[in-house]
Amino acid sequence: MTALKSKFTFENRFIDNLPADPEPAKFVRQVHGAAYSFVMPIHVSNPQVIATDNDLANELGFSEADLSDELFPQVMAGNDLLDGMAPYAMNYGGHQFGNWAGQLGDGRAINLGELVTPTGEHKILQLKGAGLTPYSRRGDGLAVLRSSVREFLCSQAMEHLGIATTKALSLSLTGEEVMRDIMYDGNAALEPGAVVCRVSSSFTRFGNFQLPAFRQDIELLRALANHTIEADFPHLVVDSDVIDKGVYLAWFNEVCQRTVKLIVGWQRVGFVHGVMNTDNMSIIGETIDYGPYGWIDDFDVNFTPNTTDRQYKRYRFGTQGEIAQWNLFQLANSIYPLVEEAEPLEAMLNEFADDFQLAWREMMAQKLGFERYQNADDLTLFESLEALLSLVETDMTIFYRQLAKLDVTQDFMQSNHWLPVLENAYYQTEQLSDTYVEQMSQWLCKYQQRLVLDSRDSKARIAQMNATNPKYVLRNYLSQQAIDKAEQGDYSEIHRLQQVLKHPYDEQPEFEQYAQKRPDWAREKVGCSMLSCSS
Ligand code: AMP
Ligand code: MG
Repeated sequence: MTALKSKFTFENRFIDNLPADPEPAKFVRQVHGAAYSFVMPIHVSNPQVIATDNDLANELGFSEADLSDELFPQVMAGNDLLDGMAPYAMNYGGHQFGNWAGQLGDGRAINLGELVTPTGEHKILQLKGAGLTPYSRRGDGLAVLRSSVREFLCSQAMEHLGIATTKALSLSLTGEEVMRDIMYDGNAALEPGAVVCRVSSSFTRFGNFQLPAFRQDIELLRALANHTIEADFPHLVVDSDVIDKGVYLAWFNEVCQRTVKLIVGWQRVGFVHGVMNTDNMSIIGETIDYGPYGWIDDFDVNFTPNTTDRQYKRYRFGTQGEIAQWNLFQLANSIYPLVEEAEPLEAMLNEFADDFQLAWREMMAQKLGFERYQNADDLTLFESLEALLSLVETDMTIFYRQLAKLDVTQDFMQSNHWLPVLENAYYQTEQLSDTYVEQMSQWLCKYQQRLVLDSRDSKARIAQMNATNPKYVLRNYLSQQAIDKAEQGDYSEIHRLQQVLKHPYDEQPEFEQYAQKRPDWAREKVGCSMLSCSS
């Protein structure tokens, strides 16, 4: 037995504090009166860790020796457990694409336990793709390499962009093959099976509260809310022995605030989650469940990468704020039995819309290099810019980055003073009509006049812009290239992307090619511009 086996302390508060499903068998079923079911990960033939987040490993207390311990890949793929782990799948429901879907639950995620880190924090380790659970419904409980690479890399991209997210400790191959029909068009094929070990202080979703509320199981609802508040919002109960109505309201208010911050972060960097169902909304305000997500290449508020959502585009880039509010409305409905007063909840939901607007404006001001959002004139500038960015295919990431490079002492009515700098942001230069160029010149002149109102030097402004507008984001085609290689057994591109994405705001001359706009071959390619929920 290796030292790793008994190295960690696990304090499994979720299972200690909440009722368990008494049925130990794995069959698919409705689970009532319980927050989770105990379930063991499936045994796989040949576990192999192909990437790790070493910073996260270190934060959790894994040494380098632990990562090369023979037990590590076994645990990361679900073949073995560390002492103190007690695997379980969580029970939750949710609204999918606006419709109540009833019980969903962790159909292919298994929480291993809550590890106590060297600094005393609780971090839950969770395997995604570790086999059937009582919540697997029609699924197989498994995950493939393709979607696991995307989850692994995007967790790290988000973290280093400074946006709250679940993390990913390891990416492992299982040695098994898994059948998937990527585009749901009858072309099923075998793909390499994989497991990601996700890490967060909570994997609880809005849907965890929705299910007991829907079933009028107020006792479970209350237990779950109390546990969540005590474990993840302890500052709300410092001065009170009892969790009363006031605490529930303060909690809901904080969930709203965290969600504002999260979504405004997504809008800032051009991230489209793709499946903002209520079961994919984290109660602690993290980005969770990386599925058919995408990054904006050419700016388009109507963009969604998710082909399943192609018709109505419910989860398109431009509506993520409204959808978050809709989801919070469902959460408010669910916790209403604990509060028994609609008015304060309604007030907070309305405030969400206002706070989101304010935060969005402040974020846009940061992107453009203003010290602060000033007034409606600024808003007009933002809106007219977004209209211009949509008018011709303009790469969002490159545009903002290049904007910081303009010499703002020049006369922008002359396009030769700006076009050579911004040119690289355009996908099709033939779209740059005289009218467009004239409009952009005018916008830039207004922008210039606005910058003068801030009394600070351009060095400070440029530094702010470059700390707000990333140079490197996980463009879909970059993930796809890493996936294509990984499927051939070459994991180097995954490792390289990990390096690149660690410093998204820095110039990294050696990685310049990772800041290029989407190449033409990726325009309509599956995995690059089109993704399905198949994973
Ligand atoms: P998602 O859209 O990935 O958030 O998943 C929605 C629901 O489907 C959740 O309850 C998942 O646990 C479940 N699910 C997704 N993929 C699978 C799978 N391969 N096997 C079992 N359940 C799955
Ligand atoms: Mg999900």
